[in-house]
Amino acid sequence: MTDDRYDLAVIGAGSGGIAMAIRAARHGARVAVCEPGLLGGTCVNLGCVPKKAMWLAAELAEAQRLAREVGFDVAPGALDWPAFIEHRSRYIANIHASYRRRFDELGIVLIVEHARFLAPDCLAAGERTVQAAHVLVATGARPQRLAIPGGELGIDSDGFFALRACPKRVAVVGSGYIAVELAGVLRALGADVTLFARKERLLRSFDADLGTALAQAMRAQGIGIALGHVPVAATRAADGYALEFDNGLRASGFDELIWAIGREPNSGRLGADTIGLMRDARGYIAIDEWQNTNLPTVYAVGDVTARPALTPVAIAASRRLADRLFGGQPESRLDYANIPTVVFSHPPIGTVGLSEEEARSQYGDAVKVYRTGFRPMLAALAQRDEQTLMKLVCVGRDERLVGIHLLGPAADEILQGFAVALKMGARKADLDATVAIHPTSAEELVLM
Ligand code: NDP
Repeated sequence: MTDDRYDLAVIGAGSGGIAMAIRAARHGARVAVCEPGLLGGTCVNLGCVPKKAMWLAAELAEAQRLAREVGFDVAPGALDWPAFIEHRSRYIANIHASYRRRFDELGIVLIVEHARFLAPDCLAAGERTVQAAHVLVATGARPQRLAIPGGELGIDSDGFFALRACPKRVAVVGSGYIAVELAGVLRALGADVTLFARKERLLRSFDADLGTALAQAMRAQGIGIALGHVPVAATRAADGYALEFDNGLRASGFDELIWAIGREPNSGRLGADTIGLMRDARGYIAIDEWQNTNLPTVYAVGDVTARPALTPVAIAASRRLADRLFGGQPESRLDYANIPTVVFSHPPIGTVGLSEEEARSQYGDAVKVYRTGFRPMLAALAQRDEQTLMKLVCVGRDERLVGIHLLGPAADEILQGFAVALKMGARKADLDATVAIHPTSAEELVLM
């Protein structure tokens, strides 16, 4: 057994763990990272990056259809999945190589082992014992399954990224980010998709208008949306997968069944109980606003905590923690308010701040909402009845922006700049005072 001593040990080399390791090493800390799997964690290997690649492929498929509708002499072709996956894998391999390079440049020691706590400042990682003044837990989360008969059948988002061909008839269970994203990609690439949501709306944690408008757009694309369907059993027979629901309905004949019903934290194999590391009822590591756990030199970031499970959140929290612990910035911490987020649905959604419902419950009658809906130019040229939705939620006499909600082409790219404005405390009058860029979709945000 070797005995290594570090200023910082990081458990998990996903977005949060890597960001912390690099920033701490830049501040001069001696850093070890324990990771038995691929560098980059969920985001790089089984999440954002391969998902965005598939979304871009889906966008290209749709662009071919649109091109034909406006007069191009093209016959939309099917995607060669294995060829595209080679491009995707090469892109991801480059990210792995770039992380490796940065680790080497900064002298970060990568220990390719699962780590567990022996003591708050001591980890067992394979044959090694790692001593560290500070330990960051950044072990992320994994897809969860339902405890119902047949809940183990089919695939989850990890399995989606292992697909080597487009399945023909697909059932997607869930109505959050992953469900709507995968349903949209598969439909655009040629699958016959039905999405089963247990409640009466998609994306329930978002402004209600977004979920309603997205369901309408998805139905127009030919995606079956079955609301109010709580799955109670899944089976597999000769004609494919079948689902049974608590309303007595049954759906069958699916070539693929995808569960997208949320994720659970990877906190069970850390030896948390051995050292008294506190977790909540769902297994998330309990932290305060400084990423501190209940143990003085143990911290946690990212999806293993009950904070927004978004890569940039984990990265930002990590960098600020590294600045606080090793960079002489004692006040450094992430402000979790007003985090912008994009759902890569078709069309995409961009949202930041409070939903209308949240704003009304917080501010009552002081809330004023501006809403616009219009046909984006390309859809109009193609005589498609597609609608972009834009909504501003404002508060008080000075109409301070507290929420921006967008659904439509380019919403994913439009939001970032407007999120800066909202974070800076912009008022509706500031948008009005900004000259529009014409003709764009984004201009509607300053013309409402
Ligand atoms: P979400 O939390 O977004 O959605 C989970 C969904 O599962 C909800 O729609 C919920 O339905 C449904 N659900 C939960 N339990 C059941 C059940 N028993 N039966 C049927 N449906 C159920 O989780 P995801 O797994 O989609 O994504 C996990 C997280 O990963 C996201 O919250 C997000 O933070 C992150 N992510 C971010 C992406 C991005 O930035 N673009 C993309 C993908 C993931 P209901 O609403 O009705 O309760």
